[in-house]
Amino acid sequence: MTMNVNQDADVTVVGAGPVGLVLAAELALAGATVQVLERRAEPDQAMKAGAINVPTAEALDRRGLLPAAEQVQRELLSPPDDGRPARFTGHFAGMVLDPDRVDWSDADLAGHTAVDGARLVPQRELEALLAGHVARLGIPVRRGVEVTALEDTGDGVLVGTTAGPVRTGWLVGCDGGRSTVRRLAGIDFPGTDPELTGILAVADVADPSVLGSGWAWSTRGAYRYGPQPGRVVTVEFDGPPADRSAPVTLEEVQTSLRRVSGTDVTLTALRAAATRWTDNARQAAAYRSGRVLLAGDAAHVHSPFGGQGLSLGVGDAMNLGWKLGAVVAGWAPDGLLDTYDAERRPLGAWVLDWTRAQTGVMRGDAKSAALREVVGDLLSTREGATYAVKKISGVTQRVDLPGDHPLIGRFVPDLCLGDGSRLVDHGHGGGFLLLDRTPDGAFARRAAAWDGRVSSVTDDQATPTGVLVRPDGVVAWAADTAAVTGLEAALHRWAGAPLTCGRS
Ligand SMILES: Cc1cc2nc3c(=O)[nH]c(=O)nc-3n(C[C@H](O)[C@H](O)[C@H](O)COP(=O)(O)OP(=O)(O)OC[C@H]3O[C@@H](n4cnc5c(N)ncnc54)[C@H](O)[C@@H]3O)c2cc1C
Repeated sequence: MTMNVNQDADVTVVGAGPVGLVLAAELALAGATVQVLERRAEPDQAMKAGAINVPTAEALDRRGLLPAAEQVQRELLSPPDDGRPARFTGHFAGMVLDPDRVDWSDADLAGHTAVDGARLVPQRELEALLAGHVARLGIPVRRGVEVTALEDTGDGVLVGTTAGPVRTGWLVGCDGGRSTVRRLAGIDFPGTDPELTGILAVADVADPSVLGSGWAWSTRGAYRYGPQPGRVVTVEFDGPPADRSAPVTLEEVQTSLRRVSGTDVTLTALRAAATRWTDNARQAAAYRSGRVLLAGDAAHVHSPFGGQGLSLGVGDAMNLGWKLGAVVAGWAPDGLLDTYDAERRPLGAWVLDWTRAQTGVMRGDAKSAALREVVGDLLSTREGATYAVKKISGVTQRVDLPGDHPLIGRFVPDLCLGDGSRLVDHGHGGGFLLLDRTPDGAFARRAAAWDGRVSSVTDDQATPTGVLVRPDGVVAWAADTAAVTGLEAALHRWAGAPLTCGRS
């Protein structure tokens, strides 16, 4: 699309957090001109996410960023005894899931192991990695620019910023839980009110032996010391903080830790900017209003229990990027952009409930303590641990798409090809991927009319015989025979009208 002379970019992304960076990159790969506006002069150094889920790690893999993410994990973790990355499990309400109890042969888990070495990637390092990706794509990130006003003019958006007005075709708020874009667009944010205050800090602890290690509960809440020396998490059920914006002080962390642990532990210094959070759980009433959209924390907030927020937001960005890119490029099928809200909302609602359930189990009262015992017993069974790990890792995520094949609507599993490459290796530049394992290339011939949007990869392995993968990694069509039934319908539905006449 030719950019309007008065327009600064096809799409303006507000916020250079992880979600804004992923979205900007996906839009650029889809051919849109993009700019990112970020109010901070420098990247945020506060400690937040420590882990990403499988779909997020696979999104990095899909764009050729897996080796860099694996490198981050290798540098931060001491190497395992057997040289293989440890199987990351996560926790539910502080109950750490024992990897030895998980059924790793479960088909969903076994189908997504290629990214095992890139699950423990902290947010700061992930943002640095994504910033490099965005820079290589030539996307301008304008730091120190805060969005303060917007007007949807029907054919674009006029944006007021601290650096002057910006005109853009579309505006996406990736500006975090207290999103200005959401407020200015008048989008409601219903949900449940917070009842706790949590703190994450890394501190110098004078007498760590008084704390023990791992999660511990008391009548006031819960705390965790470790796994790294000095890492402290406290959770207190005495309501939200009076001022969420105030920096977390050493005294605040020590007071909270003393209260919740019942010890007189002494902290002597904070080693990095600490983070304060609540269990405020809300989801935007709509992810789109006209030419304004929301993604990431701007669209949903919840407590960080179980580490879901960043990955949920990256999933939004992967889902939205190619769809909005298709709208900008002019080939989007009818209603494509509306599928963004329809596909992502149920998952967002599930994450909110997953974290609410953990709040219920973590409270300090006797009933919650009793519930914790029951849930703990269930999670220590093979079935319980496997269930929770599948949920936390995201391997069972699916969107409701038409078609009978079990892969349809799921994230494409690891698929190794006869030439030693993997299917994901062929999609670093974005676009649809069609795996064709028919002996005569029948699927690829059918998709030739979408050349430029769909890249065909031929292979001589067995089932699945064919898989059409959307740019976000979701399987749009799959077959276990050489019959082309449904392929063309899926191409029309997701990749729009064909560019040229196909040959059957
Ligand atoms: C303690 C803690 C632990 C967590 N652990 C995990 C975990 O293990 N796994 C996980 O998946 N998630 C985790 N999360 C959640 C994760 O940190 C967030 O979900 C994630 O940061 C959301 O990314 P985002 O890009 O949507 O928003 P943000 O990271 O909040 O980025 C928004 C950006 O927008 C900018 N901005 C805001 N307003 C404006 C404006 N008006 N104009 C211009 N720029 C603006 C901000 O400066 C910021 O850079 C954790 C969170 C916390 C607090």
